[in-house]
Amino acid sequence: MRVITSLEALEGLLPLSPREREAFRAVVPVYPFSTTEYYARLAAESFAVRRMLLPSLEELNPELQNLGEPDPLREERDRKAPCLTHRYPDRVLVVTTNYCPVLCRFCMRKRNWRRPLFTISEDEVDAVLSYVRRNPQVRDVLISGGEPLLLPLELLERLLLGLKKIESVEVVRIGTRLPVVEPSAVLRSELLSLLERAQKVWVNTHFNHPDELTAEAAEAVKALLKCGVPVNNQTVLLKGVNDSVSVLERLFRGLQRIKVRPYYLFHCDPVEGVMHFSTPISLGLKLLEELQTRLSPLALPYYAVDGPGGYGKVPMLPVRFEKLGSVYRFRSFSGRYFTMPDR
Ligand SMILES: *Cc1c(COP(=O)(O)O)cnc(C)c1O
Repeated sequence: MRVITSLEALEGLLPLSPREREAFRAVVPVYPFSTTEYYARLAAESFAVRRMLLPSLEELNPELQNLGEPDPLREERDRKAPCLTHRYPDRVLVVTTNYCPVLCRFCMRKRNWRRPLFTISEDEVDAVLSYVRRNPQVRDVLISGGEPLLLPLELLERLLLGLKKIESVEVVRIGTRLPVVEPSAVLRSELLSLLERAQKVWVNTHFNHPDELTAEAAEAVKALLKCGVPVNNQTVLLKGVNDSVSVLERLFRGLQRIKVRPYYLFHCDPVEGVMHFSTPISLGLKLLEELQTRLSPLALPYYAVDGPGGYGKVPMLPVRFEKLGSVYRFRSFSGRYFTMPDR
C-alpha cells in the first residue's frame, strides 16, 4: 500500500489547479493530508471524491468553523477505560488508533489528527477486555479508529479473539473505510482468516458516493461476505458530495447490488474544520422522504443525528402515518391515503 502525504507526490497522480495547490499549502500545516495511491486515482476521475480528499480553504474559515467544536459527541467525556466509550447500556465504542491512510476532510475525529500517532497497546486491549467482561450487559462492541483493519494483526487478533471468548458479547462491529480507500488491503489472507475465526464480526463500511463503488471495492466486500462477515454501510450526508436524491439513490442501489445493507445516513456532525460539509436537517429529511417512495426498505438507511453534547444517536424515517381519532391514516408510496381502524 502506497500512502501519499506531500504535495509533490500527490501531483504525480492528481494534478491540482492553482487554487487547490494554494489551499493545500495553507491548510495542511493545520489539518494534514494523506491518501492512498488508489484513492488519489479515483479522485482524478470523480469530482465528489476530489471534494472528500483535497484540502479546502473553507476548513480554516473561522466564521463557519466556530459554529462547530472539536468533540461535539463528548466521546472523551464518556470514556470508561482507555480507548473505550460506554454510552448506551448494551454497546461500547473502542477507538483503537488515530492512524488512517486517507484523511477524509469531513472526519468526525479531526481533533485526533493533531495528536501524535497512537495505537492501542496490548495492556489497553486487555483493559478493554476486562471492562467488557465486568459489564455483561454489553453485548455489542464497536471497534473504530482511525482504521482498525490496519492495526498490527497480532493486536487485532488479541482484541477479536479475546472478545470471542466473552460469552456476553454477541456482536463485534468493525467500522472501516478500507474497502473504499484501499480494497486490496482487505484481501490479505491473514486478515480474512482472522475475521472468519473471530466469528462475531460484522463490518460497517463507509461509502459516501457511487463513484467509490468500483470493481475492486466490490471484490473486497465479496471477500468479507465469504468469511461470514455481514457488511453494512454508514454514509455521511455531505454538501457538494452526495446531497441529492439521484446520487443517494445510485449509492444505495449500488450498495445493495454488492450485498451491502445501507444502515445509516448520518447528518454531518458539527465538528470544527468540517462545518462546510454540513447541510440543513430539513434537506436530509426531504431527501429521505423522496427516497422512501422509490426504494425498498432494504436499500433505505435511517437518517440519524448524533446529539451534540453526547446525547447519542436518534434515527429518523419520514413519518407517513398519523392517528386520526380511532383510525390510523397512512400515505402510500404513490401518495394516496388509506385508513385502518386501531383494533
Ligand atoms: C454510534 C455509537 C454506538 C453504536 O450505535 P448504533 O446506533 O447501535 O449503531 C455505540 N456507542 C457510541 C459511543 C456511539 O457513538
